[in-house]
Amino acid sequence: MTMQEASQELRKMLQEIYDPRESTNITEWVMEDITGINRIDRIMYHHRLFTEDQLDKFNDYAVRLANGMPVQYVTGYAWFMALRFRVNEDVLIPRPETEELVQWALSETPPLKEGLSMLDIGTGSGCIPIMLKKKIPDAAVHTLDVSKEAVDVAKDNAAIYQTEIHFHLGDFLDPGIRLTLPQLDVIISNPPYIPYTEKEKIHQNVVRYEPHLALFVKNEDPLLFYRAIAVFGKDHLNAGGKIFLEINEDLGESITHLGNSFGYDAVLKKDMQGKDRMVKWSKLIK
Ligand code: SAM
Ligand code: GLN
Repeated sequence: MTMQEASQELRKMLQEIYDPRESTNITEWVMEDITGINRIDRIMYHHRLFTEDQLDKFNDYAVRLANGMPVQYVTGYAWFMALRFRVNEDVLIPRPETEELVQWALSETPPLKEGLSMLDIGTGSGCIPIMLKKKIPDAAVHTLDVSKEAVDVAKDNAAIYQTEIHFHLGDFLDPGIRLTLPQLDVIISNPPYIPYTEKEKIHQNVVRYEPHLALFVKNEDPLLFYRAIAVFGKDHLNAGGKIFLEINEDLGESITHLGNSFGYDAVLKKDMQGKDRMVKWSKLIK
């Protein structure tokens, strides 16, 4: 099979699941992964035959993609702020909205403050803490997740990027665990925020493949993590400190009010798609 035939076959198959643009993007991603050569060269050498190994890999990928598995899990990596992160089905695939959240936090964090201490709640692949540490190397960066499997993936990513992160394994909803965490200047989190009742509304391959522990929160209490973070910040956030949170687009107002009710100054921000997607809570200097 030539590279051109492979990519035509794959694109055609993907169009049964995805729209044409997404099918093309996934095809390019897979072809680059399998051949190790860039798009321009692939066009130039389109008649080149796959080696036996490449063909095996192609067939294996095609079966998993046909089952609706996201391309990031098929190839084992995802992109986040131009870095490649190892992912598997134990961790959420990092999202563009979360890149915006990290950029916001970085733009508001004085990089030269001595002894700067930061915590990310809900590590996943480790994309948030690793990016913070890369951008602010002098900061002490902590992260917590209840999933050991997720922490293992994040540790691999931290090793790949040679970043020193303080990993904590535990349930943030347990006040005892919160006591073991340090004093902080910045808290950031993309906690689970999709109520189970919205399960039908989201892409079925997200529901089938991504960890439910990362996505869903109990219907009756979608603010569960935000309230725990608000309480935690009362004791653990230094005066002048800030909390950056990714949110469900329907909960902007509630989470702004929640922050205010705990005495934080709250600012709501939209993502690139114009949806209420993040909130900043600042602890005023008395
Ligand atoms: N920060 C990553 C990102 O943005 O791609 C992952 C975010 S994912 C939406 C939420 C993460 O919170 C998951 O990794 C999940 O395992 C973790 N988590 C869920 N419940 C938790 C809890 N009670 N305590 C600590 N972490 C929790
Ligand atoms: N933004 C993710 C999604 O739409 C959910 C992330 C989360 O629950 N924190 O699937």
